Amino acid sequence: MRGVHPIDTQWQVIEGVVRARINRVLKHRQFIMGPEVEEFEQRLAKLTGAAHVVSCGSGTDALLLSLMAVGVGPGQAVFTTVFSFIAAAEAIKLLGATPVFVDIDPDTFVLDPEKLDEAVRTTSQHTSLVPRAIVPVDLFGVPADYEALNVVAREHDLTVVSDAAHSLGAEYAGQTVGTLGDITAVSFFPSKPLGAYGDGGAVLTNSDSVAETVRQMRIHGRKGRGFPHVYIGLNSRLDTIQAAVLLAKLDYFKQELEHRRQCAADYQRALGGMVQLQEEPLNTRSAWAYYSVVTDARDAVQADLAARGVPTAVYYPQLLCEEPVFANLSYGVDDFPVARRLSKRIVHLPLHGHLPKSAVDAISRSVTQSIHEHTVVSTSA
Ligand SMILES: *Cc1c(COP(=O)(O)O)cnc(C)c1O
Repeated sequence: MRGVHPIDTQWQVIEGVVRARINRVLKHRQFIMGPEVEEFEQRLAKLTGAAHVVSCGSGTDALLLSLMAVGVGPGQAVFTTVFSFIAAAEAIKLLGATPVFVDIDPDTFVLDPEKLDEAVRTTSQHTSLVPRAIVPVDLFGVPADYEALNVVAREHDLTVVSDAAHSLGAEYAGQTVGTLGDITAVSFFPSKPLGAYGDGGAVLTNSDSVAETVRQMRIHGRKGRGFPHVYIGLNSRLDTIQAAVLLAKLDYFKQELEHRRQCAADYQRALGGMVQLQEEPLNTRSAWAYYSVVTDARDAVQADLAARGVPTAVYYPQLLCEEPVFANLSYGVDDFPVARRLSKRIVHLPLHGHLPKSAVDAISRSVTQSIHEHTVVSTSA
């Protein structure tokens, strides 16, 4: 089906601007920390309202640098959702801290604040770990419930590091992603709402001291060449060429975001009532990075769409607690019933900034048909 592949379809529109931006870098050849890097950081600060944007090598590094900057380490508990990509849990573990997984809200699929509160209390009372931070994930573009999370964070003195890999451009209670947590980590992996042509990430914060620490930590823990090393840091910079690609794409970002919102509304009109869809709470506007459909007919939906040349994806077929690397945390299969049920039934439909309306309509018809057929078969069997 034409126009369903995000990167190829977008390329038809943005090729000229991207080539011009990359050519400029090839001319000045400052491949590390060239002028595009700072220009991009400033543009992103303007877009999000964050006081500081510090770019880095990937979204995973952005999470790692954020947690490093506030001193997360051994003996501490960091609370995060069990239903996400592994990056946040991985960063917590890399620093020697312990990830404590929490179940999700059945309608919005983001961290459940009541279960978070319960997990923090249980950890304080029944383990030797010191609660230190929360890493909520704005899943598929829907911001976590920050008002409720902040109540828990304030009561227990926890830093909120927001995983906004999916949610650049989203809003919560009139505020844009980038200022919702104490620190926000963004990814520019090619398939994210603002994707580079390689890896990239950024740390966003209103804290002067966190920003300054991250700026040093991304270049081996010093202010720059000739300065002493005062932290154990990383080599994690955004390549100048990737900054150039991102600057080109920023010109289209808002228009693409609006288009994704339009497509999501069209999907909802066609599919709502027939299948469960991810809820966008009243005080939020999702960035619609991924469009979720929840159905018992997942296999049929995927097979029928594949036959029409439409790619689908499943995020996430497994809970983080089921990953072999977290087996030693000793969670049971029944510890996260909401996430577990979702992981067996969720599937993602194509959704991107240049998806033709005709494709949304055709995909919706295909999904409707798959579900009807599946339902008929299963009731007559
Ligand atoms: C992609 C992703 C990341 C990590 O981003 P990278 O840039 O690939 O390192 C973190 N969290 C979530 C939820 C993601 O989807």
